[in-house]
Amino acid sequence: MSIDSAVGITGVDKVFSARKGDVIALTGIHLEVAKGEFVSLIGPSGCGKSTLLRVIAGLIPATSGQVTVNGKSAEQARRDQDYGFAFQQAGLLEWRSVAANVELPLVVHGVSRAKRRARARELLDLVGLADFAEHRPQELSGGMQQRVAIARALAESPTLLLMDEPFGALDEMTRERMQGELVRIAAETSAAVVFVTHSISEAVFLSQRVVVMSPRPGRIADVVPIGLGARDLDTREAPEFFAAVTQVREALRGRASVGEGIS
Ligand code: ADP
Ligand code: MG
Repeated sequence: MSIDSAVGITGVDKVFSARKGDVIALTGIHLEVAKGEFVSLIGPSGCGKSTLLRVIAGLIPATSGQVTVNGKSAEQARRDQDYGFAFQQAGLLEWRSVAANVELPLVVHGVSRAKRRARARELLDLVGLADFAEHRPQELSGGMQQRVAIARALAESPTLLLMDEPFGALDEMTRERMQGELVRIAAETSAAVVFVTHSISEAVFLSQRVVVMSPRPGRIADVVPIGLGARDLDTREAPEFFAAVTQVREALRGRASVGEGIS
């Protein structure tokens, strides 16, 4: 495990104790995410994607094994705000303006009003919502609300973004536009991203590597490297894109071990 990695996971298991018996949510997870790398986690419902993200975030402890974020323990990285988190629901406060929502993590951490204002302006610019700073969240479309949530997750300049199906509630067209935006934002901020999705094409479009998980107990079945280069409007129509989609689909079905295997 390189000390220069954004995320290092070694031999992680997660067991939930339930009244009807234990649930092994994750077993034998090894994964390293490099600084600035974009990695997606894909797999059927219940395979432990959200659990793995919460373990990386230090929100729940692993039952065994080791997790590091920027070379520190996951708990320390959480206290240091090394990462931003975005979920399927934007989770914005309706009574606050868009700018005030983006500023919220900065308020919590005692950043001065002037600095907060400037940072919110910069972030809303980054996500293409500069003109909507004083609007209320309910005046925005679903895609725009999700952009606000991404801006908020970026408020403290995290080196890591953890995203749990952030575009899952959006229509297909909006979703594709947001994917393009996210690729640009990740490049501009140099943040590493761990992105959970059900969508094979979304995982392929966004990622440098797609981590394919299988359920019961949740484990990494395969890691598919995606060698697509810079993404643009033609990427989704390129033969290499379809080839990568097929590779991930077959890995999900448990066919043909492709790529570099479990690493
Ligand atoms: P995914 O995000 O891939 O759909 P989850 O990580 O949410 O899957 O869940 C993985 C497994 O762990 C599921 O069987 C789920 O029921 C179980 N699980 C998740 N959270 C808890 C919890 N807090 N208590 C008990 N079981 C849980
Ligand atoms: Mg989930």
